[in-house]
Amino acid sequence: MTDAHCHVARGEECSFVCLPPDAEVPSESANAFFFGVHPWECLECDVMNGRDARSPSVASPLASGGFAAALSALRARLESNPLAGVGEIGLDRIKSKTIPELMRGMFAAQLELAAEFGRPVVLHGAKCWGEVVKACESHAGKIPAFLFHGFSRSEGLLPDIFRLNGFISIGPALLNDHAVNYRDLAKRIPADRILVESDATAENAAEVPSAESVAEFLADLRGVPRAEFFALLDANASRFLHFASGIASLRQYSQSTDSAPGAVNAQRHKIS
Ligand SMILES: [Zn+2]
Repeated sequence: MTDAHCHVARGEECSFVCLPPDAEVPSESANAFFFGVHPWECLECDVMNGRDARSPSVASPLASGGFAAALSALRARLESNPLAGVGEIGLDRIKSKTIPELMRGMFAAQLELAAEFGRPVVLHGAKCWGEVVKACESHAGKIPAFLFHGFSRSEGLLPDIFRLNGFISIGPALLNDHAVNYRDLAKRIPADRILVESDATAENAAEVPSAESVAEFLADLRGVPRAEFFALLDANASRFLHFASGIASLRQYSQSTDSAPGAVNAQRHKIS
């Protein structure tokens, strides 16, 4: 099982782990790593004075060194990790009704880096998915694939998302009996575009449902045998990582056309 979006791995065969650009990572891992400045990091962040007004004790690259330092940390990360993607990045209207300029600027600059390096991107777009999709459109083809994490509305955007080579990752909100519209959406995502995620963080890792429990529920909802659906999810996760074909080491294993997801994971070692 692949957990297609989390911030801490919890023992799935493969997890797509999103971390800040300067985070410590294990030197060998079966997981895929994505680095980026989360939009929430851009809220109330007193960049000029190098501190984060929300949580002054938290040292984020953005808070400690400002916009340019965060971007150069991300660039260095992408240079030294040919298999790393970019994420979680995007825009947000949950915590602030208007999108701060810093958030927009940081998102645009990180998309530019992802396009320059040809890396897949994990997106956040709570309550502003339309704007996120629009910002991604100028990078179509240069960014190999987009993962729409936590996407839960605006079904009208789906054709644009698929044109961008976007995947929709379904999360634990599906398990909520009141999530009628979300379940409806999850049923209709095309089979080759769907992933599952836990969005586990260091804070909620003990209680948040696993990607596997989301996958089990989703298989039943879609009326597909669980084993078959799990294999489909792993194949989709593997394909998502393969799209970064501009990178030499990824190119190597994309040539072995029928490589199992496990084989892909075995290649995704050596993170620095
Ligand atoms: Zn997340």
